[in-house]
Amino acid sequence: MSTPPASRRDLAAEPEIVRLCDAVKSAAAEGRVLIPRGGATRDAALGALSGEPLALAAYAGIVRHTPTELVVTARAGTPLGELVETLAAAGQRLPFEPPLPGRKATLGGAVALGTSGPARAYRAALRDALLGVTLIDGTGTVCRFGGEVMKNVAGFDVSRLMAGSYGELGAMLEISLRLEPLPERSQTQALACTLPEALTRMPTLAARAGALTGLAWLDGWLLARFEGSAVEVELDAKAAGGETLPPEEAAARWARLREGPLSAEGRGDEGGALWCLSLPNDAPALELPAAPWALDWGGARRWVRTTAAPKAVADALAPHGGHGLRLTPGVMRTPQPAALRALEQRVRQAMDPSGVFAHGATPGEGD
Ligand SMILES: Cc1cc2nc3c(=O)[nH]c(=O)nc-3n(C[C@H](O)[C@H](O)[C@H](O)COP(=O)(O)OP(=O)(O)OC[C@H]3O[C@@H](n4cnc5c(N)ncnc54)[C@H](O)[C@@H]3O)c2cc1C
Repeated sequence: MSTPPASRRDLAAEPEIVRLCDAVKSAAAEGRVLIPRGGATRDAALGALSGEPLALAAYAGIVRHTPTELVVTARAGTPLGELVETLAAAGQRLPFEPPLPGRKATLGGAVALGTSGPARAYRAALRDALLGVTLIDGTGTVCRFGGEVMKNVAGFDVSRLMAGSYGELGAMLEISLRLEPLPERSQTQALACTLPEALTRMPTLAARAGALTGLAWLDGWLLARFEGSAVEVELDAKAAGGETLPPEEAAARWARLREGPLSAEGRGDEGGALWCLSLPNDAPALELPAAPWALDWGGARRWVRTTAAPKAVADALAPHGGHGLRLTPGVMRTPQPAALRALEQRVRQAMDPSGVFAHGATPGEGD
């Protein structure tokens, strides 16, 4: 039998939660900093952080899964791979296709990093699939935001701020997510072309195909994935043209795009930093000393290894309103607009007034 969700039981009275709340309260009172920690798979990329770990991996398990309502509520420490397998056994999946870097990665870590896979542009971003979050804020209080319903007419939900919060707004305990059914069929068409040709073809493919769930360019191939009913997929795939990839080969390519396609080529020691760039999908090919490139989200996400300095990357993105995250060597993001930085500060102040979660995991800004 499943456990009632946080809204219907007194989560704050559970001994484990009382212990976590007390840890936050005493850290806040003593001016100590805490780092919420799931599977710690991202520790190597982050380097040394100043603070004590607040271990949440043991707070695990699916609290409630209602297949008929396409909703799941799970504890933040639930291993992401386990959650994905459980949902698949029920014929369902997470719409945002998260990276699955290893058995230890947790749901809380995935939400805190806010990373979505190739389907993000066509199905949902992680943020859009978040229905509700229960967390411990910087005062040591258990707070519940959102719920378990699809339609939330109350306006912007605070729970969505947790996507990409890097554990600096509070320690998540329970997370409710919207799900979708597994498709009847998945098929990937591959067309050999150059990067500029891919950028020209992508908008036409995206506009025509209702079953499109992935549009990428990798290793000189434009990849278009179609998912849904067999009839719909067949029609869209035929219109796209190219050759149909065998299912295992297609799955391997989408997995590479999901996990970060250029990461396997090295760790920044072959003369280039690895960047993940976000920009409008109709932006042209960027002028950067680079090899190689990979495109995802119909050109809106671009992975690149480049010897360009961070400022040169930011300057190349600026005319298109884009931004970038450097993954190696050392995580760093391009500077944010002043208004966004001010808003981020106000949210931090509201959620964590004494800075107990201000551990500096959010990537710093390059100049
Ligand atoms: C920039 C970047 C670098 C990455 N580098 C690697 C890598 O080198 N190796 C790899 O395997 N994967 C890497 N990943 C992928 C990442 O490990 C996965 O997304 C994974 O799902 C994170 O889960 P975790 O439990 O290991 O998180 P953790 O590594 O434990 O934590 C990641 C972040 O989430 C926060 N967090 C964790 N749990 C909670 C919670 N319950 N409440 C609030 N905050 C929480 C932490 O404070 C931290 O900032 C990287 C992702 C990004 C965005």
